[in-house]
This record gives sequence, structure tokens and C-alpha cells, in this order.
Amino acid sequence: MPMKHRSNARWALAALLGFASVCARAEWVKRVDDGIMGTRITVELWADDRARGEEAIEAVLAEMRHIDESMSTYKPTSEISRVNAHAAEGPMPISRELFDLLVTAKDYSRITDGAFDITYASVGYLYDFRKHIRPNESAISKALPAVNYEHVILDPKNRTVRFTRPGVRIDLGGIAKGYSVDCGIDVLQKRGFTRAYVAAGGDSRIIGDRFGKPWMVGIRDPRGAPGTVITRIPLTDAAMSTSGDYERFFEEDGVRFHHIIDPHTGHSASKVRSATIIGPRAIRTDGLSKTAFVLGPEKAMEIYNRIDDIDAIIVKLDGSVIYSKGLEPAPTK
Ligand code: ADP
Ligand code: MG
Repeated sequence: MPMKHRSNARWALAALLGFASVCARAEWVKRVDDGIMGTRITVELWADDRARGEEAIEAVLAEMRHIDESMSTYKPTSEISRVNAHAAEGPMPISRELFDLLVTAKDYSRITDGAFDITYASVGYLYDFRKHIRPNESAISKALPAVNYEHVILDPKNRTVRFTRPGVRIDLGGIAKGYSVDCGIDVLQKRGFTRAYVAAGGDSRIIGDRFGKPWMVGIRDPRGAPGTVITRIPLTDAAMSTSGDYERFFEEDGVRFHHIIDPHTGHSASKVRSATIIGPRAIRTDGLSKTAFVLGPEKAMEIYNRIDDIDAIIVKLDGSVIYSKGLEPAPTK
């Protein structure tokens, strides 16, 4: 009997030690979620303790659900839907979060010569890429005068937004994912994580490295099978966004209609196949990745080269790839 007791105790002790070592083992924890913002969310982090890592990932996903709730134009109760319904009637008080996003969006309109414009939605809402629906010319020309970021009047003192005319609609689809990635990274940093990757569709951001090695983030081949890449970029402490004409599109008589709209014409902006921006924060890389589609590779690259804190990789319509100054390979002698 005593023998048995002792061996039980020994087993219990061994199990306890084993359990403790499992709990304390630092490891990479990763989660992929397909239920938020209509896209794939990936979070990977280095955690001292798996449970703490999982809990932090939950907090990131909760933050993203909150952003989806308030910023989605698909949800009639969202704050942005209420703005679209009433801001033409007069100044509307809005949350600080939305106000700050609208200020940032207008900034991006200015630095991209109006290529990025959240009022694209005044025409954009007439498209449904999933159902292959697009507006005819007369519907476009009727809606087009409402597209102009100058129609969105922001009053910082009273924190209100007003549209100068009826018919204006805004949509933050061009920065919402990048913003949500930044918010996800904030959540992790506040909890003390120093090595992590957060991505929402084509928008991603990294903090730290992989123990002396960079993270390798792929740029998808716009005409290749899903999963094929044109190159992988080594990144630490950086954000990267890719916009592609393969994301949400349909074809009619050989013409590709896809989800980036030229604010000047109301048509699908098709001047490149994809544009990738690398920069400090994902809201910025997301906001700037649409410009190349609207302005074309040369004009867009001129703008990208003027902005100090970003780099760019553009896949042109003929499949050739061009790089911003900071990424150009060294000349061969
Ligand atoms: P994803 O939505 O997968 O992140 P992008 O980053 O390329 O893809 O953003 C495309 C989205 O940007 C569109 O679905 C639309 O919501 C929005 N958008 C389209 N055209 C414009 C534009 N000219 N300016 C700002 N946002 C735009
Ligand atoms: Mg994006």
C-alpha cells in the first residue's frame, strides 16, 4: 500500500511538473479567422504562455468586430450608415474614432491628388461585384457630381460631419482593414507582446522580428493561382498592403470590372494589376495602395517616391514590376 501511495505521489509530481513546463513554454501562437469584415484575419504572436497568447488574440478579434460594427456600410445601424443617411441634412456629431478616420481619409485624398476618395461610394454603391452588377453611363453621370472629398465638411470644434449636398455617400472600405490591423497591433502592444503579425486580407503589420530573422511576407501574383507570389519581402516593424484587381471582380466581354473606383470617372480603375505599399502603419499603406489603380503606374510612383516613409511595388498591366526608389536593386556594373 505505502509503495503504491508513493508511486502515485511521484506520478502526480511528474504530471504537475510536466503541466507547469507546458504552461510556461514560450511559443508562437497563431489563429486564422474568416468571420470578420468579409475577409481573412490572421494573428500570430510570440507568447510566454499559450493561454495568454490565445486571450490576446481574442481581444484583437473583438476589436476588429467592433470596427466592423461601426464602420460597415452593409450594416444599416452602423455609425457610418447613419452619417450617410443624415449628414446632408446638417452637421452631425460623431464619435472621435470616426472623426479621426475622416480627417485621415481627407489627408490621403490630398496627398494622392484625389485618387483616394471615400466619397467614391456616391457612385460605388451602384456596383455589386458579387452579383456582377454595374451602373450604366447615365446612372454614373447622375451620381458623379456627389463624388468629391471636398463635399465632406469636418468641424473639429464640435466634432461634426456635414455633406454639402444630397447624394454624397462615404465608405471607409479603403482604409478600414488597415486601421483595424493597427488597432489589433495596439491591443497586443498594450499587453506587452513584442513579436507579432496581424493581417486583414491584403493589409498586414508586423512588430518585432522572428528572433534575428525578418518575417517574410508574400506579394501575390495577380494572375497566378491563389497562394502563388511574385516575391517575398523581409519585414520587421512595418506594415504592408496590397490592392489587386483580382480581389473582387467580374468580367464582361473581356473587360475586368473590379472594386477600386476612379473618383473622376465613376468607372472601375484598371491602370495596374496590383500595388503594394510598405510603410510604418497599415492605415497608411492601405490608404495609399489604391492610388496606382486610379493614376496609373508612372504618376502613382511619382507620388509614392515623394512620400518619405513608404515604399511601393507595382505590377503593371503587362505583368512587369516596378519599384520605388528605396527598393530599387543596386545597379550592376
Ligand atoms: P480590401 O478591401 O481587400 O482591403 P483594397 O485595400 O484594395 O482591398 O481596398 C478596396 C476598397 O477600397 C473597395 O472595396 C472600396 O471599399 C474602397 N475604394 C474603392 N475605390 C476607392 C477610392 N477611389 N478611394 C477610396 N476608397 C476606395
Ligand atoms: Mg485594404
